Amino acid sequence: MVKVVRRPLRVAAVFEGDVVDVLKGLGLYEQLVEGKLRCFICDEVVSLSTLGGLLKVGGRVRVVCNKPRCLWEASKVSAALQGESPFGT
Ligand SMILES: [Zn+2]
Repeated sequence: MVKVVRRPLRVAAVFEGDVVDVLKGLGLYEQLVEGKLRCFICDEVVSLSTLGGLLKVGGRVRVVCNKPRCLWEASKVSAALQGESPFGT
């Protein structure tokens, strides 16, 4: 049986309620709504409905779409960069 060690869901969990506030706080909301943000992993345009998570890379916040593969990759990148989830759980 395959066991998922680090579930990418944690990356997205924080967005359930306050994603808009978080994005506005980061100055990314306008760009997201205008379709100017692209997934850090697959490079597709990310919208509010396809936003999967945020990733801090090199001091910049990047968005990740909600495809399972992208969330998974993002969680790996995040773990590699910080040794923990982007939001410290
Ligand atoms: Zn993606």
